[in-house]
Formats: sequence, structure tokens, C-alpha cells
Amino acid sequence: MTNLILFGPPGSGKGTQAAKMIEKYGLVHISTGDLFRYEMGNDTPLGQQAKAYMAKGELVPDSVTIGMLKNKVESHPDSKGFIFDGFPRTINQAQALDALLAEKNASINALIALQVDDEEIVQRIKKRGATSGRPDDNDETIIRNRIQVYKNETTPVFDYYDRQGKSHSINGIGGIDEIFGLITQVIDSI
Ligand code: ADP
Repeated sequence: MTNLILFGPPGSGKGTQAAKMIEKYGLVHISTGDLFRYEMGNDTPLGQQAKAYMAKGELVPDSVTIGMLKNKVESHPDSKGFIFDGFPRTINQAQALDALLAEKNASINALIALQVDDEEIVQRIKKRGATSGRPDDNDETIIRNRIQVYKNETTPVFDYYDRQGKSHSINGIGGIDEIFGLITQVIDSI
């Protein structure tokens, strides 16, 4: 199995790059943000639990997120690997992911972090907000809170996998194909 974490702040282009990676490598893409939006759209109990946190730009509690992620992974028993997008966002989630993969005699092969500075992120998300219909994309205070939450709670996940020699940082500013080229260089080197 090949299991990759696509990492980076909100608005760093993870979704765009994940779409290209699925095509090239045939991996299953799991975006926890997309899963939560799907649940919210269907007004399920899970969606109702996530809603208030997402609206404020806070993380949904690990107890909810980890269970949802496990179910999704287990619904693809024959996958040749996964691209995790927007997960793990806390050390606790990273440890749960490692344990889940270990049960399948697998592990994370690489974490690929897209680096984009704060002001570029704010501009990109505001632009996306015009068409995404996402309330959390349309309020600068919430956007800045998401960036702060990323710095406080999520960047330690980079260091966690760095200690295992698995973290790779690439420049997330540039053309879509140019950035994809950098991602494929990392994947092809593991
Ligand atoms: P972005 O990367 O633009 O912030 P996402 O779609 O990945 O967008 O996430 C949107 C929101 O969903 C987050 O702000 C958070 O509230 C919630 N969320 C997504 N993934 C997680 C996660 N792994 N843990 C906790 N909350 C999450």
C-alpha cells in the first residue's frame, strides 16, 4: 500500500492537487472536510455535530473525526492506498491513523506539505468563497481563525512525521502543474 498525507494550511491547494494525484496513482482520496460537508448537506447526526465547529473555523472534536475516518478507510478494504487530505489535523489523529494502518500491516509512506504564506491564503479563500458557498470561506475573521488553529494544533503533525523521516515540504505557490510536478518528484522518490 501507498499511503500519503497531503498537508498544508486551509486554501493551500490540497483538493486541487489530490484530484491530480488520484488520476496518476489510483489511490483513494479521503478529505475529512468533504466528508463533513456531505454529512451536513444530508443533515445527519454526524453533520449536525460538526456544523457549529466548522462554522467557527474550529476543529471538530477528535472523537467524532477519528470515527468517521476509520469508517471511510474500512469501506475500501481492497484499496492500494489512500491520500489523506485535511487529516490528521492533530497529534491524536496522527496516532489514531498510524494505529489504524498498522492493523492493515501498512503505514504512512510520506507527508507532503504545501507551503503558502498567510496573506496568499486569505486572498485565495476569499476568492473561493465567491463560488464555494462555504460560510467559512466568506468571513475574514473565520479564515484567520482557521489559519491560527492550523498553526497551533496542526503544524505539530508535520514534526511528528518528520521525526519518522517522512515529512516533505514543497512550495505551494506557482502553477498547478508545476506544483504537481514537485509532488510527483516526492512520491516517485519514496
Ligand atoms: P480547509 O482546508 O479549507 O480548511 P477543509 O474542507 O479541509 O477545508 O475543512 C473544513 C473544516 O472542516 C475545518 O475548518 C474543520 O472545522 C473541519 N475539519 C476538517 N477536517 C478535520 C479534521 N481532521 N479534524 C477536525 N476538524 C476537521
